[in-house]
Amino acid sequence: TNYQGVGLIVGVTGIVGNSLAEILPLRDTPGGPWKVYGVARRPQPAWNADNCVEYIQCDVFDPEETSSKLSKLTDVTHIFYVTWANMGSEAENCRVNGDMFRNVLSAVIPNAPNLQHICLQTGRKHYIGPFEALGKIEPHDPPYHEEMPRLDVENFYHVQEDILFEEVRKKEGLTWSVHRPGVIFGFSPYSMMNAIGTLCVYATICKHEGLPLRFPGTQDTWNGYWDVSDADLIAEHHIWAAVDPFAKNEAFNCSNGDVFKWKHLWKVLAEQFGLEFHEPEGQGLSLEKMMKDKGPVWDEIVREKGLVPTKLEEVGQWWFADVVLSAGSSLDSMNKSKEHGFLGFRNSKSSFLSWIDKMKAYKFVP
Ligand code: NAD
Repeated sequence: TNYQGVGLIVGVTGIVGNSLAEILPLRDTPGGPWKVYGVARRPQPAWNADNCVEYIQCDVFDPEETSSKLSKLTDVTHIFYVTWANMGSEAENCRVNGDMFRNVLSAVIPNAPNLQHICLQTGRKHYIGPFEALGKIEPHDPPYHEEMPRLDVENFYHVQEDILFEEVRKKEGLTWSVHRPGVIFGFSPYSMMNAIGTLCVYATICKHEGLPLRFPGTQDTWNGYWDVSDADLIAEHHIWAAVDPFAKNEAFNCSNGDVFKWKHLWKVLAEQFGLEFHEPEGQGLSLEKMMKDKGPVWDEIVREKGLVPTKLEEVGQWWFADVVLSAGSSLDSMNKSKEHGFLGFRNSKSSFLSWIDKMKAYKFVP
């Protein structure tokens, strides 16, 4: 094949990395045909192995390993950076995520003469602050738009952006884009924040125990207007920015372009698992507490239903679901993306259903 683009996906088994790995190699993908490298820390899992990607197992936090494995990729034209490490404290997040990103860029930029563009994925916490600051600082007033200044709080997204700006200056003509999704609807049993996967596992446990699907979040979240970001749409947004000259050197929000209410999606989730559902109760419940002792129950379900073996703590990110479902209502604006030529969108209810179906089809839930 006469490749036009050579993509390096960093975090290829993640929630957007897996979508990029599926979409980039397709014949009709803009900027293609693409040759694709995919980096992740662990060995390639079976559910990621059908993609036409050259898989590279590499811990990008390790500078020597990253340099030895990624400096060889001299044909890379585009980097898609879709990974992060959650260290708990934001000070540690800044240090570790900064180092990881710098390790990748300093291995690739000096050694890939045809490198043209770097896509960095951050997120909506750019407008509301890091997890540890939620409720403690004043967020921006939604709908969030890209001209809003940085909040005056430590945030690893700021560190990554600054590294990006500094590194692209080292190579004439190298361009960048920053992508800021909200909560992502996608498929990856390896993701550190997979809302769909977590909710499917919760519903499966409710079903197994003969319980209704109680809504663990708050009344505000149940009734509020919400938007989310489909992982395939984010992948399309990355690819658009990688190839379209109007998208260069800009930060963009990336969300589905419609609104929904959790009270409507909750009903859909209940239907998909054959459950009765309950409305929110009082100040909300804590999934983290409710699921604390369910590890053995999950092991039993996995055995009984012949699911792909997983541990509850891998597939149920209860802390994340608790944060998401008590976040009230907050929307972003897709005006800037549209004004620059990105007209992609998703129907969030269809998106919700299709990722639930994929979780079932790959036997992560029954
Ligand atoms: P993810 O957790 O789904 O995937 C991370 C990927 O990186 C995996 O493939 C993992 O194996 C790999 N990885 C982790 N540490 C590594 C290391 N040291 N070396 C090599 N590979 C490593 O990632 P994500 O959720 O797409 O996160 C990317 C960005 O998107 C983050 O800034 C995150 O805050 C942001 N974001 C995520 C969500 C969401 O709902 N998941 C929503 C908004 C913004």
